[in-house]
Amino acid sequence: MRKITKALAPPPSFTDWVRRKPADQDENQWFEALYQQQQWGIVSDLSHCNAHEQFYLCAYCCDRITGDSADTVNEHVEARKLNRRRSLDHLNIVASCKTKKQCDAAHGSQPLPLTPLMSECETELRFKLSGRVEGLSDRAREAIRVLNLGDTEQNNKALIEKRKQLVDGLIWANYGDDPDQLQLEEDAELIRMLIDDLARPQNGKLEPFAPVLSNILRGRLAA
Ligand SMILES: [Zn+2]
Repeated sequence: MRKITKALAPPPSFTDWVRRKPADQDENQWFEALYQQQQWGIVSDLSHCNAHEQFYLCAYCCDRITGDSADTVNEHVEARKLNRRRSLDHLNIVASCKTKKQCDAAHGSQPLPLTPLMSECETELRFKLSGRVEGLSDRAREAIRVLNLGDTEQNNKALIEKRKQLVDGLIWANYGDDPDQLQLEEDAELIRMLIDDLARPQNGKLEPFAPVLSNILRGRLAA
């Protein structure tokens, strides 16, 4: 996860929808009405606004999202069933990928004790060269379980493989094809440079999994 700073105003179409909530419907019903009434323009404005704010990365796994409904869904960090009143609160809505059995699809209505709206989401998850992720606190372990972010191959082999390939690519790109060099060495300056590169959006987009690679590299610096 990468810390999301909700600084952008919600899209005007969504603000207008919220304002038009009938008194006899609660916030959750009115959010659901967006879909029942097929208000796809508003749904799309919201997901594009959030995707843009997130540099086109899924709030949870950091894979690429476009903001389009093909790969992006409006996701409530605090599930609507747990707090109906926050169903229309844009500060509680992020853009998630639509990958099966992880992120939004895995979250459902479970409590999420560590979220991308908390800065600790960047420090309490430790990503490894193997592509696996480890939680460094109880709440991090619970968030990894709820979102199925790939602590073991058994739970999410596909996601671990994706991350492993990117790690391998990063090492190869920077250390060449000499097998003896295929380790991230104690080269602090190069590692810092890579971390800076990964944090810099190009045309408003971060590279898929850039925060994950950055996390791994920071771990090497601390080692
Ligand atoms: Zn995701």
